[in-house]
Amino acid sequence: MKKILNLLIFVCLLSSIFMPAVSFASEGNVPLTVFIYKAYTLGRLYGIKKEEGILNEYSGLFSSKDTFCLVLMYHNIYTKKKQSVYDVSMDDFKRHVSILKKYGFESITLTDLYGFLKFNKKIPERSVIFTFDDGFKSVVPASKVLRENGWTGVSSIITGYVGSSWEISLDDIRALENMGFEFASHSHKLHNLYGKLLKEKKYDILKRDIVASIEYFKDNLKESPFAFTYPQGAYDKKIEHILSSQDIKIGFGLFRKKVNKFGDNPLYVSRIEISERTRYANPTKFEAFIKSVVEENSNKP
Ligand SMILES: [Zn+2]
Repeated sequence: MKKILNLLIFVCLLSSIFMPAVSFASEGNVPLTVFIYKAYTLGRLYGIKKEEGILNEYSGLFSSKDTFCLVLMYHNIYTKKKQSVYDVSMDDFKRHVSILKKYGFESITLTDLYGFLKFNKKIPERSVIFTFDDGFKSVVPASKVLRENGWTGVSSIITGYVGSSWEISLDDIRALENMGFEFASHSHKLHNLYGKLLKEKKYDILKRDIVASIEYFKDNLKESPFAFTYPQGAYDKKIEHILSSQDIKIGFGLFRKKVNKFGDNPLYVSRIEISERTRYANPTKFEAFIKSVVEENSNKP
């Protein structure tokens, strides 16, 4: 009897809550989606956990142990003239996308990443997130390349400089957001000072800047930012705490390890810098790197 009851509860949970949550998620309504992941994780804890057979029936909701998410960090994507060692040419960028396709990668959203890291939500076994730091205008053509391939990405904007000489305009941000492209906060005005302020432990100034950026999102975009990208990789537990107190779910950091897996801290997501400086811009080097990631993280050829 208990078995049947548990099953009923779980089925109700899935059909009545999970399905609407999927459509809500695609509209960017994050809190409900997050609630659902929590709900069905609780569902596993309350009663169903012991019933191996029942759990197996629903294993399709969870990721397999080989699943990982690779997060790539780009800056400016240039078509004519390189501006810095962080740049990647548009031709190389297009090659990166086709290499990832060739190796069976699929792009996922921020809520997918969070659900996976925190609750082992099912995502494609080889998942990728493209991030573009500093809000360069070139994210507009880059996002088009991703969209043509059925993919999406995340632009980390410095909110105090939206519409400046190098940064994307608010109209472009809104247009991209309507097409499912996502935006993370990457500070308000103090981007270049985060490393120094952290070293000097000026947490009050850092917090003011983070809150100002969140306010910008609330005033001009659909909602609070779901993710924050640490400027200059400036991270410690206190900054992480400032973010979680502001209900930010994901923190994008720099390189710690090649890929992110279930159980990793969502407030420090490791990223691989793809630039001419790191040499991964070169498609041959990029492919060798992707091949190594796949080999290290998968039992399948
Ligand atoms: Zn930056």
